[in-house]
Amino acid sequence: MSRTQSEQLFRRAQKHIPGGVNSPVRAFSGVGGTPVFFERAEGAYLFDEDDNRYTDYVGSWGPMVLGHNAPAVREAVQQAVARGLSFGAPTEVEVEMADLVCEMVPSMDMVRMVNSGTEATMSAIRLARGHTGRDKIIKFEGCYHGHVDSLLVQAGSGALTLGTPGSPGVPAAVTADTLVLPYNDAAAVAEVFAQQGSDIAAVIVEPVAGNMNCVPPTQGFLDTLRAQCSEHGALLIFDEVMTGFRVALGGAQALYGITPDLTTLGKIIGGGMPVGALGGRREIMESLAPLGPVYQAGTLSGNPVAMAAGLATLQALREPGFHDALDAKARRLTEGLSMAARECGIGFTTNQVGGMFGLFFTEQTRISRFSEVMACDKERFQRFFHAMLDRGIYLAPSAFEAGFVSIAHSDEDIDATIKAAREAFAALL
Ligand code: PLP
Repeated sequence: MSRTQSEQLFRRAQKHIPGGVNSPVRAFSGVGGTPVFFERAEGAYLFDEDDNRYTDYVGSWGPMVLGHNAPAVREAVQQAVARGLSFGAPTEVEVEMADLVCEMVPSMDMVRMVNSGTEATMSAIRLARGHTGRDKIIKFEGCYHGHVDSLLVQAGSGALTLGTPGSPGVPAAVTADTLVLPYNDAAAVAEVFAQQGSDIAAVIVEPVAGNMNCVPPTQGFLDTLRAQCSEHGALLIFDEVMTGFRVALGGAQALYGITPDLTTLGKIIGGGMPVGALGGRREIMESLAPLGPVYQAGTLSGNPVAMAAGLATLQALREPGFHDALDAKARRLTEGLSMAARECGIGFTTNQVGGMFGLFFTEQTRISRFSEVMACDKERFQRFFHAMLDRGIYLAPSAFEAGFVSIAHSDEDIDATIKAAREAFAALL
């Protein structure tokens, strides 16, 4: 498979774009080689600048749950564009979007639209602090909530240490109130609350972690978060930027039956356009400006073209059986890959929740901790990634990202992916 156009474009891109990309993971630093430059996409497929076709399991990192270029979304966008791109004033489509999101996610009485997942989590943290009058935040190792300064934090050594900045440019003072705990460690959460409960404004968590590959919550973990937050007057924030509308119509909170105080959304809610949202209980959301004192704003927030794409996407998801079908596709894929790996004698396991999945090169049968993800064979993943890419299968170019299926992936697409994987696994030996 020739990718000379991508190679040329990548050389050109590096002249005026840092690293040649507008978001770091796209640079392929996690797998080596040259990033693929795409020219168009349709359904389950991406087409690169050399006109190679790939079955896509990245889905623009989550939003494209209907598949690429879905006619209903494209037409809604075209109609919105014809009416004007942005007004900086209220529109009916924002009201429709708010009504629909609050109906689909029952823990939300009110919702505020923003322009990215990062903005959603940043505003949710500010709101939680403003509403509770407390400063400390608990987050979990391996969970990513966007590039918000106070959440861009590495765990210190040991479960109860303060976080340290995860990037130069983040002042230590900004992360001083962020406590980092191991994901799926309910006892560590209870211990911190016992010591500092009255200072904790909020716990923010990916209810299914999707940024350390895909790691579902273990039995009782989310219940403990809910119980501890309620007992100590802290807010529970579910960051459903990735899981929202994907693992179930009502997100992970519907799947696991846990009601958070605040929820952040992104990705699918914009249907491929830049949209994020935060929402939750009325009494908390009323602390936001203009009703309350917690400031939050955005020139392009609730943009009518972006709302049209998101609304058309959410409406399509309500089709009866949509999430069962999505879950079945992801299960067919992960079960098929596991069987192919077993046949080839490769140590390999998978996680899967609804339309998201994770692939792990390991002899372990179950992955539920960040440390276990880190212990997987990254070199094998890199070789597998390139063997799949050369066979027209586009996986996330990092061992630490979840994969996604869309409703446009047919059984034939998935079976062809498993066939390619059988060859790729065999080439690893
Ligand atoms: N929260 C989660 C769980 C995410 O997966 C991401 C992005 O991948 C974000 C927040 C940040 O969203 P964005 O990249 O739109 O700023």
